[in-house]
Amino acid sequence: MSKTLIKNSLIIPLDYEQPDYIKGDILINENMIEKISKKPVETDNNNYDQVIDGKNLIIMPGLINTHGHAAMSLLRSYADDLPLKKWLESKIWPIEALLESDDVYWGAMLSIAEMIRGGTTTFTDMYYYMDRVAEAAAMSGIRAVLSRGMIGLGFDLEQGFRDSKALISDWHGAENGRINVIIGPHSAYAGASGFLERVVELAAETGLPIQVHLAETKDEVETCLAEQGCSSTAMLSEIGFFDFKVIAAHCVHLSDRDIDILAEKKVGVSHNPGSNLKLGSGIAPIKRLLESGVNVGLGTDGAASNNNLDMIEEMRLAALVSKGVTMDPTSINAKTVLQMATVMGAEILGLEKTGTLKPGFKADLIGLRTDRLNLTPLHDPMAHIVYASAAADVSLVMVDGRLLLEDGILKTLDEEKIRAESSRCADRLVNAGKD
Ligand SMILES: [Zn+2]
Repeated sequence: MSKTLIKNSLIIPLDYEQPDYIKGDILINENMIEKISKKPVETDNNNYDQVIDGKNLIIMPGLINTHGHAAMSLLRSYADDLPLKKWLESKIWPIEALLESDDVYWGAMLSIAEMIRGGTTTFTDMYYYMDRVAEAAAMSGIRAVLSRGMIGLGFDLEQGFRDSKALISDWHGAENGRINVIIGPHSAYAGASGFLERVVELAAETGLPIQVHLAETKDEVETCLAEQGCSSTAMLSEIGFFDFKVIAAHCVHLSDRDIDILAEKKVGVSHNPGSNLKLGSGIAPIKRLLESGVNVGLGTDGAASNNNLDMIEEMRLAALVSKGVTMDPTSINAKTVLQMATVMGAEILGLEKTGTLKPGFKADLIGLRTDRLNLTPLHDPMAHIVYASAAADVSLVMVDGRLLLEDGILKTLDEEKIRAESSRCADRLVNAGKD
């Protein structure tokens, strides 16, 4: 039995049924939260393996990154300031064609280390060689939602399904349920005819959620309108895609009818403001989506289009961008953004007992230090996290009851080795790309 007690911290449960703030102790038993107590929990009976002084800590649920491509950290700042189509076709895809499984392993490791440091306890990934990403996730201790990205054309059409099925049977539910597998068709447009229908069949067969890029650019929606006579959102709805649990990443260009479809079909949206701004794709109508009852999580997307994996920055961007485009500073508040990064993220990914701090829920939590210049004075802790804090303020990260970051030090990963190996892989790829 392993028991941890975090004493005397400011707790933000982000639970719809508890107060916004609780000053007190959290007792963690194995991988679950056993108790949140306003009264000090007795420590004199030596019943705990670890007692953490939370005096200068805000404890909240770990951040849930609902969309990304972890190994793309190898291409961070390799190709910037280009439009999406040109960026993909002339820069990203040619290099990705050279990827080997070790590159994906070390790229994923680099991202996982960065995400843990920034308070992310669950990440979502859509890429290739996903068994290596699963290995990296298993080893690091982070919670993961993994999918084999399927383009649905040429060689990849059959290989993608084979790899997806192998990933599901080898890794879904592994590590005491810490690794989850979902189905990852790239988009409504990147596939031969019949591809999306086969994805629907696989979802029916396995009961697993689907993640897809949707309505990311104006061009995607206009091409679909010209070729199919409807938006990509309506087209997916038409073929029964949304009769399964779907996480739609981006959703920048939506008509009112599209928003109605997403709400009616309970499609979860992964909002990626950093990537959308950087690729000039536009700004997703988050206020309207939330008002329509759509659950919206946050994502960083890959580090090639962000260019970091900092969920605290993503929260701030989500809030500021919404206020800016609606010209309404009340359009989205700090608490809503925190919910998007935690409890709503867990809901859209279908993660059970995650995203909220309460007894019987998984011990996925983070601690931010409050004894920092940028967090002094402490008038409104939720506003502080969204508007004033930074990844460097995260000093404690726990996933499934296990400490992955303590006093700012990574407990499960060798940071220097990850930097060296990922740099080696990135150099090889870029040099090979020049041939
Ligand atoms: Zn993406």
